[in-house]
Order: sequence, then C-alpha cells, then structure tokens
Amino acid sequence: MTEFLDEARAILGEAHVLTTDLAAYVTDWRGKFTGQPLAVLRPADTAQVAATVRLCAAHGVPIVPQGGNTGMCGGATPDGSGAQVVLSLSRLNRVRSIDPLNNTLTVEAGCVLQAIQALAAEHDRLFPLSLGAEGSCQIGGNIATNAGGVQVLRYGNTRDLVLGLEVVLADGQVLNLLRALRKDNTGYDLKHLFIGSEGTLGIITAAVLKLFPAPHAQAVAFAAFKTPQQALQLLGLMRGQLGDRFTAFELMSQASVAMVRRYFPATPALFGTPHAWHVLMQASDASGQQALDAAFQAALEVALEQGIIDDVVVATSEAQAHELWAVRENISEAQQHDGSNIKHDIAVPVSGVPAFIDEVLPLLQAAYEGVRPIVYGHLGDGNLHFNVSRPAGWTTPGWQLETDRVNAIVLDVVARYQGSFSAEHGLGQLKNHEMLLYKAPLEVDVMRRVKQALDPQGLINPRKLLPD
Ligand SMILES: Cc1cc2nc3c(=O)[nH]c(=O)nc-3n(C[C@H](O)[C@H](O)[C@H](O)COP(=O)(O)OP(=O)(O)OC[C@H]3O[C@@H](n4cnc5c(N)ncnc54)[C@H](O)[C@@H]3O)c2cc1C
Repeated sequence: MTEFLDEARAILGEAHVLTTDLAAYVTDWRGKFTGQPLAVLRPADTAQVAATVRLCAAHGVPIVPQGGNTGMCGGATPDGSGAQVVLSLSRLNRVRSIDPLNNTLTVEAGCVLQAIQALAAEHDRLFPLSLGAEGSCQIGGNIATNAGGVQVLRYGNTRDLVLGLEVVLADGQVLNLLRALRKDNTGYDLKHLFIGSEGTLGIITAAVLKLFPAPHAQAVAFAAFKTPQQALQLLGLMRGQLGDRFTAFELMSQASVAMVRRYFPATPALFGTPHAWHVLMQASDASGQQALDAAFQAALEVALEQGIIDDVVVATSEAQAHELWAVRENISEAQQHDGSNIKHDIAVPVSGVPAFIDEVLPLLQAAYEGVRPIVYGHLGDGNLHFNVSRPAGWTTPGWQLETDRVNAIVLDVVARYQGSFSAEHGLGQLKNHEMLLYKAPLEVDVMRRVKQALDPQGLINPRKLLPD
C-alpha cells in the first residue's frame, strides 16, 4: 500500500492524504460504528476525485464516500479491515453558478446545506431542504441519502429538488448530467439512479438545485390532541384551507416533548396540563404576513370549533416561532442524552398512521412492560421516527440485544400497511440486512444488477445498502 499512498499524495498533495488523527472520519454520528481506514483522502475538485477513483480502481482499494458524516445508518463509516479509504468531499465546496431567473443554483457536493440555504436567501430565493443536521451535512450527502426533512409536505424530498448531477463513476470517468432543465425526456433519467444510492454507484461531485420564491411571511403553531386521529383530521383541514401555503406538520408524542424538556431545561411548558400528542405546524407565503396570519387563524378557529384541537399556541414573534421549532429539532439530541433506544424510521400511507400507531403500541407494551416509545416525525409525509426506549431496569447492552425482536414487532406491522422500513435515513450498514426481509427478491435482484453494471469491481462503498 506504500505505492498506493505515494501515488495518492502525488494527486492530492501530502496534506490531503491523512493516515493519523482520523477520529472525525471513522465513527458515525450515532456512535454505533467505528472503522479503521487505510487513509482519509481529501480531493479539492472533480478532476482530483476522478484521478483518485482511477487510482483506487487500479489498486483494488475500496472507497467510502463521506460528506458531513451526519448519516444515521453508518453509510459513511469504513469497515475495520484497514483496507478501505474514506473519500471526504468537504473541500469540494464551491458555488459554480446561480441563475435566479431559472431558479437554479449549481454547487459542488461538499457545500454545507445551511450555506446553500443562506446563499439562496441572499438572492431572495428559497432552497427548501431543511433538517436538524443542516449546519454540518453536505449537499452531496443529502443527495446520496435522498434526505427528507421538515418541508417535504410542500416541496418534496431531495430527489424533487435536484435538476442535474455530476458524478465520478467507479472507473474514474466523469458523467456530466449537470443540466438545469425542468423538462428533458431524452432517455433514462440517470441522475435518479444516483440520488438515494448512498454512495454505492458513484461519487457525486456537483449538482444543479431547484430554487423557489422566498417565503416572506410565516405562521407557526403548536397544537395538542388526545389522539393521532385528531392530528390527521387537522392535517386535512389545514391543507384544505391553506393549500400549498401549508409547509410543515410534525407529530410529537408527549414522551418526546417531555424528554426534550428534561435535557433542554430552557424549553418552555406550552400547556397547563400535559396532552398525549402534539403537532408543530407551519404555513409560509411569498406575499403578505397579514393575509397569511388571517388565513392561518381562521383555519385554527375552525379546528377548535370542530373539537379537532384540544389546545393551541400560535407564535406571535419570530423568536417564539424558533422556540417552538426548537422543541421538534432537539428531539434527536435529547435521545442521544437519554441513552439506549431502538430506532425506526418508517413510513405508511398518511391515512394509515393513526391505525398503525394504535396497533403497534399495545404489541410493544405486551412484549415489554413499561417500554417507552418515543414517536415523532413527519406525519404529513406518513413518516414517523418510531424509537423504542428501554423500560426502567433494563441495561443498555441488555436492551440492544432485543433489537431483532423489537424490529420484528414494529416492522412486521409496517409491512402489513405496505409501508417502508426506512423512509428517510437509508440503509447504510445498519439496516441493509432488512432489505432481504422486507423487499421482494426480484426488486433486490434488479438492484444488484444495477450495482454490478456500474461498479463491477465492487469498490464503491461495498456492503452498504445492499448486503452480501
Ligand atoms: C440531528 C440530525 C437530524 C437529522 N434529520 C434528518 C431529517 O430530518 N431527514 C433526513 O432525511 N435525514 C436526517 N438526518 C440524517 C442526515 O443528516 C442526512 O442523511 C444527511 O443527508 C446526510 O448528509 P451528510 O453530508 O452528513 O452525509 P454522510 O453522513 O457523510 O453520508 C451519508 C451517505 O451518503 C454517502 N455520501 C456522502 N457524500 C457523498 C457524495 N458526495 N457522493 C456519493 N455518496 C456520498 C455516504 O457514503 C453515506 O452512504 C439527520 C441527522 C442528524 C444528526
């Protein structure tokens, strides 16, 4: 490998072939996986990525692409063999162009999501992808995982926000699909193969992103209910009244909100008495605040009159809107502090969410008395983070040993609802084996054929997404 590392240094420069102080690159965000790479390689541009991939192909060295390393499934973490390299895209962080009239932005893969949002705002535009990790995740990672976030209800997943891509293929050739077109029926739309492929089919080096009019008016409220069925009724009502102006609808169980208050003591108590379920909702509009506030208030009044909502707090300032959003955004971190839980990131048809919850909760309670399900997420998309925290008296290692049994309880019900066992976070090395349990064999076989066609040596993020 000395020869390989010397050639890598010739391509990237001594300073960008790291073999020591690798801690920031070798463990995933949740701390579930730690690997041991041969080196971390930090190319500066597409040409260097292509030369590095060609070098790896020549030496048979497997590559693990890495963006902001905020993924939830260990997709960007190398294995422990010492034979893989981590290819960090962080230095590809240039903005190539912005075209406000075409409503597009062309950026390199290592641009941090928050910087892209800020650049769009400078041009009075919106890049709507928004998620808790936006200060450190990179657009290449967002595209590779087809990230969702809190505005999918109105703007769709990352897949819906990408018009073009530049990808370095497994043999080091650069596939230029960087078109800024909204219509283009000229054969297979290849970019969609790479979106959501978790770095297993090629290295994304740049993208053309869709921009939208900047929302100048926003209305935010936090509502409380007895049942998820009421929340679903409210979703229908708000969408009916506000149409496309309705942009976010996030469900949180009482246990989720209580956990945030425990670990973030500055979180305000929003209601005098606890409620079983809550929703954080947002409407936004490119035109006036007054008109939006009036429509938002009117819709909430209908909901109160019809008894759909039990209680509601409407933000009266931008600061209060941030405070309400913080409750939702701090759940992931609060769970980190709270310790061991078995996570699920599932989707069922939106209309089936209340019945799904009603069916799973008693099954879990019957199997594990005192279990604490932390249920929250994007109800408007039918996507729930359904995390099962250990009952009192269980140790962390003991609870982790129950993973397969807890997964089977939750995911078998998901399957009955024709749902998804991983709606947002992908599979990486954490959930790839579930592919074999919950996908049809033919679907898995077609995926393997695609992988074989694009990466015949099996060197691009091996054993992620697809198990052996
Ligand atoms: C607090 C918190 C909140 C989150 N909220 C959400 C949420 O609401 N919705 C959601 O969908 N996700 C969420 N996530 C998960 C995570 O932020 C997203 O998956 C994000 O898109 C990953 O981006 P990244 O740059 O960190 O990618 P990484 O973690 O570095 O990589 C993720 C995967 O993409 C591959 N990859 C990375 N860059 C490239 C590239 N340039 N080319 C090819 N492959 C590449 C990696 O190999 C890996 O398989 C959250 C994470 C945290 C920590």
